[in-house]
Amino acid sequence: MILRYYPYSLELKHTFNIANYSRTATPAMMVEVEQDGVTGYGEAAMPPYLGESQDTAATFLRQVDLTRFPDPFQLEEILPAIDALAPGNTAAKAAVDIALHDWIGKKLGAPWHRLWGLNPAKTPVTSFTIGIDTAEVIRQKTREAAPYKIIKVKLGRDTDRQMIEAIRSVTDKPITVDANQGWTDRNEALKMIEWLATQGVLFIEQPMPKAQRDDTAWLRTKSPLPLIADESCQRLTDVARLGGVFDGINIKLMKCTGLREAHKMITLAHVLGLKVMLGCMTETSCAISAAAQLSPLADWADLDGAVLIKNDLFDGATIVDGKVTLSDRPGIGVVKH
Ligand code: MG
Repeated sequence: MILRYYPYSLELKHTFNIANYSRTATPAMMVEVEQDGVTGYGEAAMPPYLGESQDTAATFLRQVDLTRFPDPFQLEEILPAIDALAPGNTAAKAAVDIALHDWIGKKLGAPWHRLWGLNPAKTPVTSFTIGIDTAEVIRQKTREAAPYKIIKVKLGRDTDRQMIEAIRSVTDKPITVDANQGWTDRNEALKMIEWLATQGVLFIEQPMPKAQRDDTAWLRTKSPLPLIADESCQRLTDVARLGGVFDGINIKLMKCTGLREAHKMITLAHVLGLKVMLGCMTETSCAISAAAQLSPLADWADLDGAVLIKNDLFDGATIVDGKVTLSDRPGIGVVKH
């Protein structure tokens, strides 16, 4: 099996601000695997705060030798071997995982939601994310989000109440909040969450820094809203440690090395009574469509990544009336433009 890759820059439609950071583009590495005339597509999307880059991805991918594996269907052999090549590099690993899944599905002529036995009618609605901004921009973006049933808002600075009030001046849709570790005082965090609970907010993602695990567990016992782990939950081994600290987890392919591990994380989360959210980075329809294959298993989706960029390379899963919508296309369900 041949592996190819090339760098690509995902151009954002709007500058994106979160609690400690802003950007206008996201570096990516596009991956292709090919055998028997079938090409599988994959993608690594690498917002800089995650520590990967096009250089680290290229260095990692140079070590990946798929010719060592005579049967590309044996993912339980191949993916652990790739994972063991180097620590980290989770997005680069995800790119290979996604491409191999796409290849297998195409070879079998079936989409992955079908191979997993999932009902495509059970996909969740996806939220549309609004970054930290002025009240005027927030109102404008809320109006642009008209097709979406849920608004996700980034909080964690001193303008949190104004942001919520700006959205509420335009719509009464449910809101989900992502504090991106922005609240460091647990009493202040609780006060904010109690107020947010009166504002039609569904849940709070990563209210406090990852290192403040005990404060988060305390907050969970008092919080009127569920707490969802994002920065605190990267991979399968993290899920086992989150019971009693969070009520759910946000799974992203770029954090967890891809579809294979994401599927296992969902199973473990359900065993532990944790809710599951499927999230994304800014990504093309390649990685979004891959994650969408798993979405019938999720309680919530935040799969708006491809909508936020202006140079998508693929057609894939779409969002129709706010709902993640799968097609019958095989593999991860994409066609390259
Ligand atoms: Mg988050």
